[in-house]
Amino acid sequence: MRMLPVLDTAPQAVADTSALAAPTRTLDAFGRHIHYVRISLTDRCNLRCVYCMPEQVAFRPSAELLTDEELVIVLRAMSALGFDKFRLTGGEPTVRPGLLDIVREVASLPTAREITMTTNGLRLAQLAHPLKRAGLQRVNISIDSLDPAKFKRVTRWGNLQDVLDGIAAAEDAGLTPIKLNAVVIRGYNEDDLPALAALTLDHPWQFRFIEVMPFADVADFQQSAIVTTREMIARIEAALGPLTPENGGQLDGEARLYRLPGAQGVIGFISSISQPFCHSCSRVRLTADGKLRLCLLKDDEVDLRAPLRRGATADDLQELIRRAIWRKPWGHELANGVIPTRRIMSEIGG
Ligand code: SAM
Ligand code: SF4
Repeated sequence: MRMLPVLDTAPQAVADTSALAAPTRTLDAFGRHIHYVRISLTDRCNLRCVYCMPEQVAFRPSAELLTDEELVIVLRAMSALGFDKFRLTGGEPTVRPGLLDIVREVASLPTAREITMTTNGLRLAQLAHPLKRAGLQRVNISIDSLDPAKFKRVTRWGNLQDVLDGIAAAEDAGLTPIKLNAVVIRGYNEDDLPALAALTLDHPWQFRFIEVMPFADVADFQQSAIVTTREMIARIEAALGPLTPENGGQLDGEARLYRLPGAQGVIGFISSISQPFCHSCSRVRLTADGKLRLCLLKDDEVDLRAPLRRGATADDLQELIRRAIWRKPWGHELANGVIPTRRIMSEIGG
């Protein structure tokens, strides 16, 4: 297995003192304030992107997934713990039945400050306006190539025009500012970087290029296909001119932002492998089957579904979540060969 470079180092964890974890400001043992949850609404998807899942993939039986009611109970507990950022993802969130009701429930949480969704965009032409009316604020849309044949090859059968229509609908509905995502995969779309980056010249969009991360059954392919941020920047600058750092070079969420000369929009790089941002992590993930996943790239999870189905009270649930967050790992250990083995990305909530 190829070793990957990791630059982030863990500080010393402090001893568990409940006093540090006030009810509306949930801290982990490293003092990070955890207030952002990415919610996988389903492990299912209407695409099969090569970097995300194998072509023959077995989805979980519906009975294993949190029901709408269970999901709302968990999210209310998280809201009571001070969570204020909620991202709906998957799998493909737009294939979850009852999506609009779920968005309404999230929007009615007393602490909800940001409600966003990551989607492949295929269903946005129909759903963008209803989602906006239900309370969704923004979308991140995945688009890995502007060449229809390459797009189809990366996604295994996707139709690029559906995504372009979805982006237009999202903009029309006011799900803005629009953010677009591309995972860069050697042999599939590394030549497309300049064309994708050039979208920011004429649109006020944020285009984010993502280093591929390794998971379970797909890890060998993912590790052999990685294109680092350094190479991405070199390819874009060679074609389009110098990139100027935005935001004083500081992270914006997980992305480092740059601007092309005269561009309306910005370009972001999510460098989870070459420049990890674990020190500023503020998030956990809720899997569709009700596990609180503490770090994207570690298998540590805490089951919330079983206690819920055994009749846990709201207080029990809050205590369980608070204690789980205290145990959130510092960050990934890919450089030491530690790769998450139990789930692929679509099951976690990317
Ligand atoms: N289906 C939606 C979509 O594709 O946008 C949401 C779920 S998808 C798992 C969320 C994000 O994770 C997408 O931007 C996708 O490109 C990214 N992603 C999937 N597999 C990845 C991997 N192995 N490494 C890095 N990013 C990945
Ligand atoms: Fe589906 Fe998103 Fe994974 Fe592609 S990246 S297979 S669209 S979940």
